[in-house]
Amino acid sequence: CGIVGYIGPKSVVPVLIDGLKKLEYRGYDSAGIAVIEQGKVLVAKSVGRLSKLEEKLDAYTPEANIGIGHTRWATHGRPSDVNSHPHTDCTGVIAVVHNGIIENYLELREWLEAQGHKFKSETDTEVLPHLVEHFYDGDLEKAVQQVITKIEGSYAMAVISKNEPDKIVAARKDSPLVVGLGDGEYFLASDIPATLAHTRDNFILNDGEIAVITADGVKITDTQGNKITKEVFHVQWDA
Ligand code: GLU
Repeated sequence: CGIVGYIGPKSVVPVLIDGLKKLEYRGYDSAGIAVIEQGKVLVAKSVGRLSKLEEKLDAYTPEANIGIGHTRWATHGRPSDVNSHPHTDCTGVIAVVHNGIIENYLELREWLEAQGHKFKSETDTEVLPHLVEHFYDGDLEKAVQQVITKIEGSYAMAVISKNEPDKIVAARKDSPLVVGLGDGEYFLASDIPATLAHTRDNFILNDGEIAVITADGVKITDTQGNKITKEVFHVQWDA
């Protein structure tokens, strides 16, 4: 339902929680975040209101500068802690948030399970981190390009990996996604209100575009990795 992401000098957890609050109006049944703290992917997620997630984070708040977050509106798999996003691969190296529906997830899940992948949730989304793990050979961007050739349906997704701890890779088809352009910091969101507190300049992703976001800049490519030059969309209105 809602996606946020951040990379930059600020402490990421409050930025993600604040962004998710701005997307609350869309409705949701669960919420979660994944951050990379000292080379480790840490995930906190909970069914229910955002305050439930905040309670979990009160026990331990990671100090990190990169992360992704999600509010879920369940389509496949009941609302539960396990079914909440982010979802991870077998070894907890990769974390993914996703809006939309992966229509061919059952077939993909069987294919992945036959190769030894163990699934934890009942969601369509969980095939995504396992597919990234399957295709990963040292280049997260390339792995995501390959994942998109396998999946059918609608998606806005954001992927992080501890193997490339300073990067968010995001892609979309039939589900909105924007990259907020700050000064030495970047924001990702399914909806402009989530980034508007930080910046008015955005790249609005089109179907078939992939964004590779680091603290040094944003690269937009097509699904084959060819660079696309994007115009900056400047928001004139107030939220
Ligand atoms: N289909 C996914 C799920 O049920 C994502 C739903 C959403 O867009 O929040 O987990």
